[in-house]
Amino acid sequence: MKITKTYDWQGEDFRYDAECEHCGHVLANQPGKDDYHFYNQAVPAMECPNCHQSSTLQSSEEPLPPIAPEHDPNITK
Ligand SMILES: [Zn+2]
Repeated sequence: MKITKTYDWQGEDFRYDAECEHCGHVLANQPGKDDYHFYNQAVPAMECPNCHQSSTLQSSEEPLPPIAPEHDPNITK
């Protein structure tokens, strides 16, 4: 799955909509957390409830660039 939209931010916590790259199935209003592991490991490994595939099965394609958390404490502004 991949995140298409985030909203209702409260600190590091937010709600999100995610879409399946394989069948286009949309999961709406899911709880998320703004950290590197969530964006780059938890979400891509999430299994689509419709076709039961995850993003990590796309081994033949280029890996997606890492997504940086918006509230990453390691990022100094
Ligand atoms: Zn799917």
